Amino acid sequence: MESNSNDSSVSFVKIPTIKFTKLFINGEFVDAVSGKTFETIDPRTGEMIAKVAEGDKEDVDLAVKAARQAFDHGPWPRLPGSARARIMMKFPDLIEENVEELAVLDTIDAGKLFSMGKAVDIPFAAKVLRYYAGAADKIHGEVLKMSREFHAYTLREPIGVAGLIIPWNFPTGMFMWKVSPALAAGCTMVVKPAEQTPLSALYYAHLAKLAGIPDGVLNVINGYGATAGAAITSHVDVDAVSFTGSTEVGRKVMQAAATSNLKVVSLELGGKSPLIIFDDADVDMAAQLAIFGTLFNKGEVCVASSRVYVQEGIYDKLVNKLVEKAKAWVVGDPFDPKVQQGPQIDKKQFDKILSYIEHGKREGATLLTGGKPLDGKGYYIEPTIFSEIKEEMLIAKDEIFGPVLGLAKFKTVEEAIKRANSTRYGLAAGIVTKDINVANTVSRSIRAGNIWINCYAALDNDCPFGGYKMSGFGSSLGLEALDIFLKVKSVVTPLFNTPWL
Ligand code: NAD
Repeated sequence: MESNSNDSSVSFVKIPTIKFTKLFINGEFVDAVSGKTFETIDPRTGEMIAKVAEGDKEDVDLAVKAARQAFDHGPWPRLPGSARARIMMKFPDLIEENVEELAVLDTIDAGKLFSMGKAVDIPFAAKVLRYYAGAADKIHGEVLKMSREFHAYTLREPIGVAGLIIPWNFPTGMFMWKVSPALAAGCTMVVKPAEQTPLSALYYAHLAKLAGIPDGVLNVINGYGATAGAAITSHVDVDAVSFTGSTEVGRKVMQAAATSNLKVVSLELGGKSPLIIFDDADVDMAAQLAIFGTLFNKGEVCVASSRVYVQEGIYDKLVNKLVEKAKAWVVGDPFDPKVQQGPQIDKKQFDKILSYIEHGKREGATLLTGGKPLDGKGYYIEPTIFSEIKEEMLIAKDEIFGPVLGLAKFKTVEEAIKRANSTRYGLAAGIVTKDINVANTVSRSIRAGNIWINCYAALDNDCPFGGYKMSGFGSSLGLEALDIFLKVKSVVTPLFNTPWL
């Protein structure tokens, strides 16, 4: 880590007044029924940014009622796809006009790099919205060929009211990855942002209204998971829940769906993704991918390449390069354009990461660099590299969700595949090699939903994203992301006189 620039006395950007802190129900910002609020905290300092209305079951009931009304009687699901698309297309234009303010919100709420928010997260969110707006008039069923003399076809209809529950690590991205396909499908929705990061979601609700999305279509309830989140997943008038978060909470979401109304569920959960580097790799490029794959967004990334397997012939060179790069990685105030890693989301996550680092030391992994918090305010942790990790160690099994990379040496392709697959997760994997046969063999042998060869975390709106095993099921992005928001209906009619008369 090159420098500690978490000096909050330096001001890089003027923080605007926080405009939206209430719940957004039926097109209006309203207080919680209970009148309760909770504090949203700036991870750069541990201090309060704003008090935000705290939604609970009663507020979820009101939001679901508004969404139900908008679905059953409002124009949104009934509009031709092209008309929904026209309205949706205004939304990203408004996002781009407000990119600076939105990026500030995600930086103070989540500790994300301001430069990254402005250049990547928010423009990508606008792009995702445009992609699904473009899909809205291309959703259709099929004409079927039945064995008898019937005319039959399928309709793809919006499923109804969707509950969208999102995590804190990409407040903008996760909001848009879910809201955009739900809007395109013609659903109405209740979104619950993570309690750590409610601010940008409320701003997006305001922009959605300005864009012309009818009242009741998009509702936002801030609040805690066990109260507001659970009220959504167990609500009998919610038809589908798209959830992104931890595997532990994913189980609860499925249980709530099963015991309420058997609502459809999609789960995007945790990961412990391997990056496998073979002897023929370019050392500098491979080290860069490993550093980026693990430290990007301070390691709070579901696809973080937190297990790096390196073939024995290149191992020593690569380890040296990795340590050199980790030491040069700049941690500090996420508004500072030189900084590459901001603070962890909150004290709980900060303590959890440090406790995993202690576990790693106790379990016998070798700490090569990092391992400590930065002095001063805020939740900053040094980029940390362990070598000699073994699959049975906690730091190799659990998702740490922090700037901690675990290294291991392997000999053969078969060993690499076996070790990469020795995890309960299956979200992503990276392969670095010039050998096309090795790349093909490994990519087909790894049980994970996203494989990157000679790149890492390469995402785009048309590339489906989802997990295998305990990383969940269902896809985000791509046309596949529409599936959870649509029901298929078969319609059959005799071609001539009905045979039953
Ligand atoms: P989390 O599971 O604690 O919370 C996620 C969301 O669920 C939050 O909005 C939370 O309030 C809500 N929630 C909590 N308890 C709930 C309950 N009982 N019922 C309904 N909702 C509830 O996860 P987190 O700590 O916010 O996020 C980190 C996790 O998210 C990591 O495991 C990470 O891998 C995962 N994640 C996965 C992806 C992916 O695409 N696979 C993307 C981002 C994050």
